[in-house]
Amino acid sequence: MGSVEQVCEDTNMTAEKIGHCKVSCSKEGKGKRLWKKVKYQLVEYHSLPGYLRDNEFIVGHYRSEWPMKQVLLSIFTIHNETLNVWTHLIGFFIFLSLTIYTAMKVPKVVDLHSLQHIPDVLRKADLHKLHSELMTCLPSLPNMPDLHKLRKELKTTLPSMDLLPSLSGWHVVELLYNCLPERFSIGNHTDVCVLQSVKEDVANIIAPLMVRPITRWPFFAFLGGAMFCLLASSTCHLLSCHSERISYIMLRLDYAGIAALISTSFYPPVYYSFMCDPFFSNLYMGFITVLGVATILFSLLPVFQNPEFRSIRASLFFGMGVSGIAPILHKLILFWHQPEALHTTGYEVLMGFLYGIGALVYATRIPERWMPGKFDIAGHSHQLFHILVVAGAYTHYRAGLVYLKWRDLNGC
Ligand SMILES: [Zn+2]
Repeated sequence: MGSVEQVCEDTNMTAEKIGHCKVSCSKEGKGKRLWKKVKYQLVEYHSLPGYLRDNEFIVGHYRSEWPMKQVLLSIFTIHNETLNVWTHLIGFFIFLSLTIYTAMKVPKVVDLHSLQHIPDVLRKADLHKLHSELMTCLPSLPNMPDLHKLRKELKTTLPSMDLLPSLSGWHVVELLYNCLPERFSIGNHTDVCVLQSVKEDVANIIAPLMVRPITRWPFFAFLGGAMFCLLASSTCHLLSCHSERISYIMLRLDYAGIAALISTSFYPPVYYSFMCDPFFSNLYMGFITVLGVATILFSLLPVFQNPEFRSIRASLFFGMGVSGIAPILHKLILFWHQPEALHTTGYEVLMGFLYGIGALVYATRIPERWMPGKFDIAGHSHQLFHILVVAGAYTHYRAGLVYLKWRDLNGC
């Protein structure tokens, strides 16, 4: 519409002529719009240029060599990549939220607010006795009892103590209180100095647990890898149809994202499982990092994106993932008696299952191969693969939380 005013302004005409211009220009605008509509129509597989032909079982609804503006706007229109873009864009935002949540909430072993309640509790207690009791009960801290049992116990022993709602994180303070209440006896000591000393003791005991949590970088490396993979994939699906050059760059970015996700997925389990044995920690992490970088370099070769390389691509990424079995078995051998080792392995098996099914669906192009053209918009293999990747990565996130909690509470 802007072009109508532009033409009319440029020609400096009389009102009559301007009226005439407006009619003809609007006709021209209509024609232009119609032409644009035809030009930016979705096309079928057989009319695609060679570099955009990837899956012949998706028959129609392709965008082909649209200008960048139309390509960007097509995120809000329906075509055969719409759900591919959105599944991973939503996945990216899920992982962005998980990263923010993890950074803000998870390391918070206990907040200082809950520590402020301690003097109120202690005021009612026999402080000298409490001090010694506290010191004797502390070595039992790592033996964390069942949380529900703990809550129940606290409710019966100290019904007036409204502390639990303000506790958070790994329940370290709950552990502390679990050994405290039974030993409380009501005394008449209200000496402020003694109170202060006990408060400091308690703070000193809890502080190392709070301020020196186990390092988080392997967990955040995984979250970063997941976000990079999901955003790269989403961008690739949106922009690749623009031109051969963009498609070439985007596909490499997509493969790099997958390799980054698989590599960084190794970091939390390997780091936290073998954090007391740096040799194996470095061995496994070095191995997967080298394999990830090698995969990215290999994917830079032009031949890598040919459709006949689909199975090789799938099996390369599949192989990277499968190599994770080695550290997991190693962890089980070392820590078979630890419930956390079994718990995390459960998540890892589920993740392997989700990724495995994803790779299988990706390579076989099920279900569209059975009914070509029926799954162009929704339900084709790549969309299923995307959803399985997000689900697998989320499972891994849950496993990562178990590792963090395990090592925060038990150390090596
Ligand atoms: Zn994809």
